Parts: sequence; C-alpha cells; structure tokens
Amino acid sequence: MSDTNSNPRLILLGPPGAGKGTQAEKLSEHLDVPHLSAGERLRRAVDEGTEAGQRAEPYIEQGKLVPVEVVVDIMSEAMFFGEGAEGFVVDGFPRNIDQYRELRETLENEGEEIDNVISLEVPEEEIIRRLTGRRICEECGRNYHVDFRPPEEDNKCDVCGGSLYQREDDRPETIQERLDVYREESLPVKSKYREEDLLVEIDASGSIEDVFEDIRSRIDI
Ligand code: AMP
Repeated sequence: MSDTNSNPRLILLGPPGAGKGTQAEKLSEHLDVPHLSAGERLRRAVDEGTEAGQRAEPYIEQGKLVPVEVVVDIMSEAMFFGEGAEGFVVDGFPRNIDQYRELRETLENEGEEIDNVISLEVPEEEIIRRLTGRRICEECGRNYHVDFRPPEEDNKCDVCGGSLYQREDDRPETIQERLDVYREESLPVKSKYREEDLLVEIDASGSIEDVFEDIRSRIDI
C-alpha cells in the first residue's frame, strides 16, 4: 500500500492486549480514515441498551464471542455504508471463520477489497501484564496503561479530560477465557488471510512507537 491509496482498508488482528486499539488509533490518524473497533461498538451498544447490546452483554461479560449476526450487522454497516465508506482501520473483526466468510461475501457484493491484514504478535505473559494494567477513557475510548502509557494526571484522559476505568473483562479469569477463544476461534482467521496473501505479521512486543514504525514500513505508508 502507499500514501497515494485514497481509500485504505486495513484490518488489525491479534490476541486481546496485543495493542490493536492503540495501533488502530495511530493508523487512523496517520491515514485520516476512521478507526472502527468491534469491541468498542459492542460495548457502546450495551451501554445504550439497544437490542444488539442486550444480546451481546452476557457474552462480553464472560469473554466469549458474541453471536455472529450481531457483530456482522454492526461492523458491515460501519465499514461499507457508514463512516468507513471511504476507507477504515478495523480492529477486532473478523474474529472467527463464520465472520470471515460473511465479510468476504460483503466485500464481493460491494466490489471492495482489503489492502492488508496486520496481525500483532505478543507472548501470553506480556498480554496478561498489559491487560491487567489497562485503563480506558469513559468519554472518548482512548487507551492508557498504569505503567506503560500513564495519563498525565491520575485517572484523567489527556485528550478530553474524561475519567478512566478498568474494563470488567480485563479481570484475570476472563482474560484466560479470551485467550482460549483467540487460540481456538481467531487463529484460523489468520491462516485464511495468509492464504489470501494479505497477512502482515508484526512483532508487537516492543514500544508503541517501534511497533507503529514497523507497521508503517511493512505496509509502505
Ligand atoms: P475487545 O475490545 O476487542 O477486546 O472485545 C471485547 C469483547 O467484545 C470480546 O471479548 C467479545 O466478547 C466481544 N467482541 C469483540 N469483537 C468481537 C467479534 N468480532 N466477534 C464477536 N465478539 C466480539
């Protein structure tokens, strides 16, 4: 991909805590396209009490994947008919083979293509450290970490001043379930994108800036 690509379409994959949200934010700023996060959209639906949110809530609480049609509806709408119509950085979708197939069908119907699928690779012990220290702004969704990316003022977002909170599913028991789900359901998606020759694997155990530079050089943006 190059800077002249006017409608960049990127997908970020990787286990929970690999830094998908953080890197997606940076890529979205750099490329000037929206960051569409499946997890964030689902959590928003839960907070708003929509029908999709009510269906999703118990699955999110247990660290399991929400039913395919719930997430496919939300993400397809955002990617192809809403904010993402002229390019996007998606994080956390597709997360199993059924979602992958649904996305492929929509891409074919819409005559669109994904430019690159970036897979962030991080060892499990590092993931657990990252997730337990993670904090999120309740206003704008920006990610922080108590040790690696602390806010300037305790518990306050640098960007919008909102309060920071810890996600319920960042508790140790749920983290383990999410890692199991990733291994069993999401790894096969990575293989599919490898077969499609779209996969770019990135060692994401380094600093936020190093990982970002690595992504940029690998996808040529
Ligand atoms: P995340 O913010 O990406 O870690 O996602 C948080 C939770 O939202 C996951 O543990 C799932 O319960 C749900 N979720 C996020 N993305 C998906 C997806 N593509 N398919 C199904 N469930 C999802």
